[in-house]
Amino acid sequence: MDLLHLCRNSGCLLLGLLLVCCDDLSDLLPAMDPDASVREIELLVRLKSDWRAVFTYDEYSELLRELARERYTVLPMDSFRITYDSSRILVAMRHDIDCHPFKALEMAEIENAFGLRSTFYILHSAEYYGTCAVAPFVRFLAMSCSYRQLADMAGEIGIHNDLVTMMMQYDIEPLTFQLEEINYYAALDIPIYGSSAHGSAELQDLNLSNRMIYSDFSEYGTFDYGKKIHEYGRYSLEEFGLVYEAYALDYNRYLSDSGGRWFISEDIGPGHHGQLKDVILALQSSEPGDRVQVLTHPVWWGKE
Ligand SMILES: [Zn+2]
Repeated sequence: MDLLHLCRNSGCLLLGLLLVCCDDLSDLLPAMDPDASVREIELLVRLKSDWRAVFTYDEYSELLRELARERYTVLPMDSFRITYDSSRILVAMRHDIDCHPFKALEMAEIENAFGLRSTFYILHSAEYYGTCAVAPFVRFLAMSCSYRQLADMAGEIGIHNDLVTMMMQYDIEPLTFQLEEINYYAALDIPIYGSSAHGSAELQDLNLSNRMIYSDFSEYGTFDYGKKIHEYGRYSLEEFGLVYEAYALDYNRYLSDSGGRWFISEDIGPGHHGQLKDVILALQSSEPGDRVQVLTHPVWWGKE
């Protein structure tokens, strides 16, 4: 009997035991199956990633309580892109869903309770999204209802761009892949306007970034990987079917929970990694006309 069957049959007791015994279960767990149900995918995602949470949902509610005040206008990224208002503090709320779409759903629900909307970027190289174990790339269609559910609660769904990695690891052709991805979401009645670039230590080591795939941010170039030559900077965002890239929007202040610690941009206050109270102080120090981007990663949230 494999671990997934064991987990299904023995429920929370085994899950608790494993979480206590192991820091990272990824090596013990089976790969995701393209025919798996959402319930099975969620079980695996939670086993692999729930233990990583460092912030509680009470803390998230505290942040949202501040942002729900009259002095702020909180917007999804595409709306933020075209909105200017010198009488308010405009806040672009962005979530990069790396490995945990189910925490993203929980965060969207909390936002809805505060009457707030934001943008959730879904990572196409994530284990729950699909596989290239047997080429060509196969999307896990059971996840479609989760994306639709998220779209119903969020203000916007975007693509968490990891195209350079996918080109290297799966030998996918980025332009065709992304246009197919936009069509996939269109079939779910989910319009896509923009992407946010996924960070990766491996790409950094190679002096590459996912933004470089777009000619808007990079000269044309090539690199060798896996005995193959790969191209970047050949096609524009527009040719990739997008209107914007999250990091390139017009904002002057930036708050992020990257790495599970709050980062506060220099001009808002402490200018260093901080705690939630520092983030709230930084927001309170903002003035009408400021444009703030707030980035969270659902995997860091929901600590029990
Ligand atoms: Zn990411």
